[in-house]
Amino acid sequence: MKDKTDLDFTRLQVIDDHCHLFNIEYAPHELARTLSMSLNDMPDEQLRHTLVYRRMLRELRILLDIKGADQEILAAREIRMRDNYKVYVEALFNNACIHTVLVDLGYKPVEVSLEKFEELVPARVRYIYRIESALDPLWDAFRDKKVGLKHVEDQFTKALEDALENLKIVAIKSVIGYRTGLHIEPVDRKRLSKNIASEKEFRDYFLLQSIEKATGMGLPVQIHAAFGESNINVLHNNPALLKGLLDHPEYQRARIVLVHGGYPYCFEAGYLGSIYPNVYVDLSEMIPFAPMGLHQGLRAIFDMCPFNKILYGSDGFVIPEIHWLGAKSAKEALSSLFSDYMTEGLFDRDLAVSVAKMVFFETAQKLYGLEN
Ligand SMILES: [Zn+2]
Repeated sequence: MKDKTDLDFTRLQVIDDHCHLFNIEYAPHELARTLSMSLNDMPDEQLRHTLVYRRMLRELRILLDIKGADQEILAAREIRMRDNYKVYVEALFNNACIHTVLVDLGYKPVEVSLEKFEELVPARVRYIYRIESALDPLWDAFRDKKVGLKHVEDQFTKALEDALENLKIVAIKSVIGYRTGLHIEPVDRKRLSKNIASEKEFRDYFLLQSIEKATGMGLPVQIHAAFGESNINVLHNNPALLKGLLDHPEYQRARIVLVHGGYPYCFEAGYLGSIYPNVYVDLSEMIPFAPMGLHQGLRAIFDMCPFNKILYGSDGFVIPEIHWLGAKSAKEALSSLFSDYMTEGLFDRDLAVSVAKMVFFETAQKLYGLEN
């Protein structure tokens, strides 16, 4: 029996390279429901019978030091939150050693003041600008022929410039996979200016424009490439669909981050990381939402992807515990994987620790320019 406990990453500092805002004061969210990716009305008894919920309860039981039933854990959690929310958030972040969070502003199940969020969170906060925040309403207006291409281009550029000027933006993000899929192709601008282009052409065109702009400004581009909420077609989100874009000489200077590890297409994500020097792989969402799948996912990504292009993220949202659970789960999973590599004679202890530091901190620090 190999001893997995002696490779301990629990105190490593963390940059969470993909997450969202959460409530800045106590709000009664049902824990099991918050952990669901369904936009459908899932029955409570189904939501309570999921592994991610069991995993959350297990970690809360330890943190809150509760011996009793699930209800006692939930009650203790609520008391801690009501009692002093800020202290509770600090306990979570300190427990998981979260040093920096990169917040994707496009996902808005909670709207909070960024200033207040930064005051609350005991970590450095930087932001990721999601292009669909501007493009979704512009597409609606364009489709309905209320505006022309020039107007869309001007408004989109303005939205992007405003965000870059007013917020601490360190990356651009796209969820084009949720809209028209990842099979991005070059678009003839004339078709857009005549307004005979499809939604896919519209979105492909503006994604390519955004990649050019981001690259010019030295910002990486995060692209959602994985499963997601129930309004996604996972079949259109295999990162291998990005091959045309990645092969295009014009975009090879862009630094592309495949967000969510490609899950369940993790091999494909890692493979792309291994053949394109400018492709990085983020692990969020699969951590912590696929509690056991994440072991297979990590293994598939690490199989081929250079270790120094793999980045930790949680995809946490709404409640502060997902950011915390993500870091805890990732540390445990990486320690288990690297223990196996040590047993197989692939890693020694020093390499295991240095690769873990890359994944949790150093690669994000370099990629997103967070040195200062
Ligand atoms: Zn996200």
